[in-house]
Amino acid sequence: LHQRAIEQERLTSLGMLAAGVAHEINNPMSFVTSNVNSMLRDLRDEQHLSETMKEYVDDVLPATLDGIKRVNSIVSDLRRFARGDPEAHVGFDFDAEVEMALRIAHGQLSHVRVQKELGGTGTVVGRPRQIVQVLVNLLVNAGQATAPGGVVRVTTSRDESMVRVDVRDTGTGMSEETKRHLFEPFFTTKPPGEGTGLGLSVVHGIVKSHGGHIEVESELGKGTCFSLRLPLVPLLLAYEPSSDGGMRRRTS
Ligand code: ADP
Ligand code: MG
Repeated sequence: LHQRAIEQERLTSLGMLAAGVAHEINNPMSFVTSNVNSMLRDLRDEQHLSETMKEYVDDVLPATLDGIKRVNSIVSDLRRFARGDPEAHVGFDFDAEVEMALRIAHGQLSHVRVQKELGGTGTVVGRPRQIVQVLVNLLVNAGQATAPGGVVRVTTSRDESMVRVDVRDTGTGMSEETKRHLFEPFFTTKPPGEGTGLGLSVVHGIVKSHGGHIEVESELGKGTCFSLRLPLVPLLLAYEPSSDGGMRRRTS
């Protein structure tokens, strides 16, 4: 328990640091973005450009904008990690959010075959935006790990108390070493610029806060399957104080 408390404190201060850094980077970045954009627009309107200026229009400025985009996506990862926006619990259609996540991750899945088997999971109670975030992070990882022509498969199902979603890929798989560190903030095996190592720690935090579980099965060279189980209703919302001073399952 003591270990857990230390871990929690470490994560909280990391979260605050992340939120601060994200905020500090965001302002100058939006200034830089709008300046580069208007520079590019103005130069494109020019009739006679020197060779040097043409190179700026064709290569340098577009590459600069790509770099900016990358920084922005790291900043938004940091934001999510810091989880600055508590979202209310609502009832939502789980499969519909899976579809939403597939649309958002579409760009990172265009090289693979996407298969989905949605089992009519119906309504669950939770934070839909966070759940979409979880699914997008898993789908993007699956896409990044899988070579062109491979398969990423999403399956959902439910029983009386839980909804289950599997994100399976035929990608690289993971070493034992990677499996051990998977959910740690900033752990990544990807080159700088491609990975922040925050995706799965965000996933872990959100799944935990929903009272769910996440499991991973992975074999090098074969692929990976992340299995998520979430309660249809988070435990704390499913119970209410009873007259004997304890808790009882909500009936309404
Ligand atoms: P990032 O994607 O930025 O590296 P994540 O927290 O999302 O950070 O993932 C951490 C690491 O876990 C990845 O760098 C990768 O090594 C491994 N990983 C995650 N998902 C998969 C997957 N589907 N297949 C293989 N490796 C994965
Ligand atoms: Mg990731």
